[in-house]
Amino acid sequence: MQPPTAIKRRLNELGLRSRLRARPRLQGRILAPAGLRRRLPSAPGLYFPFYHDVLPEYGDDLRRHLRALQRIGPMLTWDEALAVLAGERPLTGPMFCLSFDDAHLSWRDVAAPVLLEMRVPAMFFLTSGMVGQPGNLTWQDCRDLAAAGFAFGSHTITHTRLADQDDEAAARELIESKREIEDELGAEVRDFAAPYGHPAVDFRDRDVQVARDAGYRSFATTLRPAMHPGDSPMFIHRQGLHPAWPIMAVRTRVHD
Ligand SMILES: [Zn+2]
Repeated sequence: MQPPTAIKRRLNELGLRSRLRARPRLQGRILAPAGLRRRLPSAPGLYFPFYHDVLPEYGDDLRRHLRALQRIGPMLTWDEALAVLAGERPLTGPMFCLSFDDAHLSWRDVAAPVLLEMRVPAMFFLTSGMVGQPGNLTWQDCRDLAAAGFAFGSHTITHTRLADQDDEAAARELIESKREIEDELGAEVRDFAAPYGHPAVDFRDRDVQVARDAGYRSFATTLRPAMHPGDSPMFIHRQGLHPAWPIMAVRTRVHD
């Protein structure tokens, strides 16, 4: 049981956090000093950095992040990363597998051009109900990105916190989003990322089981430690980043 002052401090932190999310450059500068004690990875480990929106003013910043990661290890496709976890592909040092969440229009206009130019593969986790909404991708945009070689997974229909849903509603988010994305893209969807992504708080064991039964082969969370061969693809660790952050702040999330 936490004393009330600790709870209050935690709530203040959360309020501060959401205000900082709206100001990513400031957030990055505040995080940066903690990165002084960290280094980008040097030991063998598989990392899954992920982003959300990449507004035009952050295109060069995304390029800067990717260049820093590419200097220390290869960027794998989601398929290749799962092969590393399965022990079918060697883990030779730090390796990275990039993903993006929600359904941002900036994937088409900013992120994809940078990724194609730098030959970096990526997985896009779609919140299917956001597709076609103002400010988001259309299904045709998604088909174009798929044709350009990018992979797609599900990130639910409504971006709800699965842990808060009853069994039926949670299962619907997993199963119906998969079906809709498959119908629209004409390809099987086998990878899932849980909104918010923290075990117990944001999703439950039940949801991982439903995902498995529905035919998903991977389930991404937002726990952050490096992954290694033998780790479960039904509990992928990802590191949330914002392109506006200095590399020093990236080091607080992606490190040995
Ligand atoms: Zn999301």
